Amino acid sequence: MTHAVQVTGLHKSFGDLEVLKGIDVTVEQGQVICIIGPSGSGKSTLLRCVNLLEQPTAGQVFVSGTELTDIDVDIDAARRKLGMVFQQFNLFGHMSVLDNVTIAQRRVLKRSKAEAAKVGMRNLEKVGVAEKAEQYPAQLSGGQQQRVAIARALSMDPDVMLFDEPTSALDPELVGDVLTVMRQLADEGMTMLVVTHEMQFAREVADTVLFMDEGVVVEQGPPAQVIGSPRHERTKSFLHRVL
Ligand code: ADP
Ligand code: MG
Repeated sequence: MTHAVQVTGLHKSFGDLEVLKGIDVTVEQGQVICIIGPSGSGKSTLLRCVNLLEQPTAGQVFVSGTELTDIDVDIDAARRKLGMVFQQFNLFGHMSVLDNVTIAQRRVLKRSKAEAAKVGMRNLEKVGVAEKAEQYPAQLSGGQQQRVAIARALSMDPDVMLFDEPTSALDPELVGDVLTVMRQLADEGMTMLVVTHEMQFAREVADTVLFMDEGVVVEQGPPAQVIGSPRHERTKSFLHRVL
């Protein structure tokens, strides 16, 4: 069986700064992997290398069996298998919520306006913001905007969803709604790679937790092990600070 995502020997440097120092990660279909670790440890760079928003310095990235790091691959087609949700929601402020979730479907997947609207509305309903379809992002709360961003990514029918601290920019009372949507996606069998500081979410939803520090994976395993009884000093001291 092909892995949903496979990263092997991934290195990434920015000039003299080596940010990723040989990362190996495998995500199976339907699995949720949570990546935890201190600020600056390379978590965002790892996610950005997975969808080639950053070009790895060395190593390979496979998504659903296709090598994204192969220079001959159709990178736009390959990248379509990945949905990405950022800390800052990156919605188009001058477009309605519905236009935000339909534009890439129409431009990239060449769906008709009606088809794109149908898929978009279905996903807006799924994340609980269908009634905001005709409004503009600025009229929505941060939590609602982030749920629109999730609906937008889902509307492209990705094989894998990448989340980079999706709740870090939200007011505390809005975090729960976004986590609930993510939990529901996980329950439905979506394959997810999630960078998060939400330890409770990682504990309950992740199949595997991966602790990164200074560009390496220090420790990985089931949440009960990595969060519950970490083996490495660096993991212990990180958890001590965040829990
Ligand atoms: P994290 O997401 O774990 O906080 P990042 O992946 O954002 O960490 O960053 C890891 C390191 O890489 C940091 O030292 C950061 O300053 C550096 N870095 C990230 N992106 C760039 C870039 N585009 N150019 C130069 N340095 C970068
Ligand atoms: Mg980051």
